Amino acid sequence: MRPDPRPVPTQTGPAQTGPAQTVRSTCPYCGVGCGVILTPDRAGGLSVSGDPDHPANFGRLCSKGSALAETVGLDGRLLAPQVFGQAAGWDVALEVVAKRFARTIAAHGPDSVALYVSGQMLTEDYYVANKLAKGYWGTANIDTNSRLCMASSVAGHRRAFGSDTVPGQYEDLELADLVVLVGSNLAWCHPVLYQRLCAARAARPEMRVVVVDPRRTATCEIADLHLAIAPGGDIALFNALLAEVESTRRTNPGFLRHVTGAGAAFAAARAGDPAGAGLSPADLRGFLDLWTGTQKVVTVYSQGVNQSSQGTDTVNAILNCHLATGRIGRPGMGPFSVTGQPNAMGGREVGGMANMLACHLQIENPAHRAAVQGFWASPAMPDKPGLKAVDMFRAVGEGRIKAIWIIHTNPVASMPEADLVAAALRACPFVVVQDVMAGTDTARLAHVLLPATAWAEKAGTVTNSERRISRQRAVLSAPGQARDDWRILADVARRMGWGAAFGWQSPAEVFAEHAALSGVAGALGSDFDISDHAGISQAAYEALAPVTWPANARRRGGRFFGEGRFHTPDGKGRMLAVAARVDAAGGLPFRLNTGRSRDHWHTMTRTGQSPRLSSHMAEPFLELHPQDAADLGVVPADLVELSNRFGRVILRALVTDRVAPGQPFAPIHWTGETAPSGRVDLLVPANPDQISGQPDSKAARVSLRKFTARWYGYAVAAADFRPDCAYWAKARVRGGWRVELAAEQAPLDWVTHARGLFGLHDAEVASVTDTGRGLARVAFHLDGRLLAALFVGPEPVALARDQLAARLGETAPQEVLAGRSRADRPDPGPAVCACLNVGLNTIRAAIEAGRALSVTALGDVLGAGTSCGSCRPDLAALIGRHRPKQAAE
Ligand code: SF4
Repeated sequence: MRPDPRPVPTQTGPAQTGPAQTVRSTCPYCGVGCGVILTPDRAGGLSVSGDPDHPANFGRLCSKGSALAETVGLDGRLLAPQVFGQAAGWDVALEVVAKRFARTIAAHGPDSVALYVSGQMLTEDYYVANKLAKGYWGTANIDTNSRLCMASSVAGHRRAFGSDTVPGQYEDLELADLVVLVGSNLAWCHPVLYQRLCAARAARPEMRVVVVDPRRTATCEIADLHLAIAPGGDIALFNALLAEVESTRRTNPGFLRHVTGAGAAFAAARAGDPAGAGLSPADLRGFLDLWTGTQKVVTVYSQGVNQSSQGTDTVNAILNCHLATGRIGRPGMGPFSVTGQPNAMGGREVGGMANMLACHLQIENPAHRAAVQGFWASPAMPDKPGLKAVDMFRAVGEGRIKAIWIIHTNPVASMPEADLVAAALRACPFVVVQDVMAGTDTARLAHVLLPATAWAEKAGTVTNSERRISRQRAVLSAPGQARDDWRILADVARRMGWGAAFGWQSPAEVFAEHAALSGVAGALGSDFDISDHAGISQAAYEALAPVTWPANARRRGGRFFGEGRFHTPDGKGRMLAVAARVDAAGGLPFRLNTGRSRDHWHTMTRTGQSPRLSSHMAEPFLELHPQDAADLGVVPADLVELSNRFGRVILRALVTDRVAPGQPFAPIHWTGETAPSGRVDLLVPANPDQISGQPDSKAARVSLRKFTARWYGYAVAAADFRPDCAYWAKARVRGGWRVELAAEQAPLDWVTHARGLFGLHDAEVASVTDTGRGLARVAFHLDGRLLAALFVGPEPVALARDQLAARLGETAPQEVLAGRSRADRPDPGPAVCACLNVGLNTIRAAIEAGRALSVTALGDVLGAGTSCGSCRPDLAALIGRHRPKQAAE
């Protein structure tokens, strides 16, 4: 057992007993798994800083991690159980859930119920959920939103390695001479890992970076070579690479003795058509020469690879190249899947997916099933995989699943064919939602709502993308009646009659059991064995330092497979013959790519609370190539309607050549709460990879057309409000909200309309309207202080938006109506550097004046990019765009 040797005190005593002192914990967003130091204040808030001693981030944080303190407020929190729309006590709520699930199982069998969980859950919570579903309900119908994120990596790992093992560690990116980033916008989606890569590159300028991505993302700022690959062209590219490895005799014959399937894989690679990658011959040749000529290569891949109907084959195409050359499991070498979610890895470790057993054991293997069932002494154990996410919600829609319990995820917003998921849940006889927030799109469809503790209120462990297990520690008291997830699940299990098996008193006891089970798995040959921690005491758990698995008497940490031993029955790795498949175009002219934006996380239930994070991209947008925009008659800031057979979405046009013609891109974050017409996942067909079950989230075929509204509006308000019009998108600002609006019908009277919109029936009003030109400006105030304002025009209104939002609560109604910036406060424009709130206009002015012509100089002059560094790629791009002509020559 390794206690945490670092000096910051950690919480002691039973979990969830109240506010703690300063603690070391973990950021709850992406799979980098950065360590944070949290200090509570006396008002229920926090200060947050990067943990300088955490081996994932060494003190760094990105914009999201830096703004964590702004997300712990109680606005919108679910604070008490609700049963059939009525507030209820825990006893009633737990009894209803236990009885309904027991009754459903008794009447329709175990496969009539399901759990849909989340990579946001802690390992301990995940362990309890998986034990309840598989060992006690007797169904493998437990799946997770991680299915949408990295299931193809899991499947590819298991096919090649015999186990779901990430071979390397983060430091391999720093030690490599060539880092290839495939379908990974690391700069935005794993920003601290990107910062580590940038620092390594600065220290060793000879290091090379290649980005393989149809989009020119922020990550390309560091790339020596950007391969703007054709969508779905990755298999063609890596097959071309494998064929090149073979034809130039760059294989590693010694390592290939530990691998089977090489002959078939080489033959399939030779038969492939490199033209399918859609690259110029020069770019393709440059990449092949660089990869084959460099020994220390790390290939990082993420959602661009995984979220594909050919995701698993794509993963194996990448793994093939590393296996053929033996570039795996050694310093600076290896394939590296980076996970999107904070605890996707922990979920995999406990077996919290429909096709997995606990501790990386296999559900299809009778000996594995018997071992887990024996350890749990459980009454049941399914002998076949359950329904993966897409099939699970289809089964709900078809009435085969009659009771579903959804924990910490929002499938009505995030699943493909999202409106069909909503319809399925509406028709489901019993829906339980356990969450932190009360008003999510999914929570609105629940029969029972169970309030859970949030990130800073609960204790447990998470595992990051490099297999490092870190403690998350509670630092704030649980508000209202919120309870920890493991405890809620265990309480239901106890009420279903399984008290002895679910009798833990703390997450430490759950972790101790999980670690003990991993020892059983290790004896069966599993890679995941953390039996060092079996029976861990409460005190040791509280003091646990970050530890990389495996952690057992035979092996502690390190890399996998460098010595050529795999977890297959014969101990050999597997190369797979894979072939690129050309998907049917589907008739509609545009292929919609989806992904994340820099400062938001998933469906924004947390990051949406931060004005800083909301200022970078304040509304849902569509990156659209200038040629496409011209063809559609769209100019920047117009609204664009996207449609297909699943529905219609309206997004703001962001015209840019970052995307290729015909391949627009839209972020996934907006929901019915924040922008009902911006829910892009409703357009994504549930077209899963046949092996992994992961949906093809980057290939929705859509039609586009300019959306022409009768009027466009911009509103600011101190109090929340919900518009009712064709397009609206809401974002937090300090002291209130800013909202973009557009509608197809104009009201008769703008003042009356604005009163109703804001619900300000008694406030004083000032207004200027020009009916003939379709212009209106209406401001409401109380005692001269601005409460809300609405600006309307026949075109998207041009205003100093942030400046006007900053006027909330101020006394200058006439200046507000004039839409003017304050003379002493020039409009900085939308924030580029979210940490220091440096806006686009400010940065542009400094560049155009020649005052700052490098990212470092922008930091010196304005402070931009000097905190978390997430905006540094954006700053570099702005310098390139706005550099004065003579300075560029
Ligand atoms: Fe959190 Fe950012 Fe670190 Fe990811 S990179 S864990 S979002 S601080």
